Amino acid sequence: MPVMTSILRRICVYCGSNPGNDPAHKAAAHELGAFLAKQGLGVVYGGGNVGLMGAVADGALSAGGEVIGVIPQSLLEKELGHRGVTELHVVRSMHERKQMMVDLSDGFIALPGGFGTLDELFETLTWLQLAFHNKPVGLLNLGGFFDGLVDFIHHMSHAGFLKPEHARCVLVESDPATLLGRMRAFQPPDLGKWIEKLAAEAR
Ligand code: AMP
Repeated sequence: MPVMTSILRRICVYCGSNPGNDPAHKAAAHELGAFLAKQGLGVVYGGGNVGLMGAVADGALSAGGEVIGVIPQSLLEKELGHRGVTELHVVRSMHERKQMMVDLSDGFIALPGGFGTLDELFETLTWLQLAFHNKPVGLLNLGGFFDGLVDFIHHMSHAGFLKPEHARCVLVESDPATLLGRMRAFQPPDLGKWIEKLAAEAR
């Protein structure tokens, strides 16, 4: 049977508003932006011009790509919005931003970052688990940055808090082309009505 592939047009990149201590991270963020643009993919991101966020946007723009930023008014007012992107959506709240980023994108890649990055990553994974969307989610594991997180995801699964099928939805690769290939081949798990089953067991 042929392997079904998802059509990806725009990829949302979640990443740090800080550059991190290792200059390799900023370089890799720039490279990822340029790589996605060269693949003909638009980039959706948080709209900032700082840290890895700015590097992804600059990388994509340097390769002639489309870059769509989605930024809350409060962050724009601090003059942290990127002025050179193709489109900048200014929204009222972080919640509105996250919803719009998911709606505009066909897949998601997380780069190194902090709480904000993990918040966006796990909200997107939670919505995938609940079948609110069925888009692929990848971790670009630069220099093993996410190793501890990947171990913890396995730990949650072994401890019975996360279905193995959902743990396997987190695509982890260190090379952008390999990650993109896995994202294109991604099939969301069909667990039927597992939430209703959980509710029935609880009764
Ligand atoms: P963190 O991983 O904690 O650096 O968070 C990254 C997230 O922080 C972004 O996706 C935004 O939600 C938020 N953020 C912080 N600073 C900025 C900024 N200058 N521009 C846009 N988003 C920002």
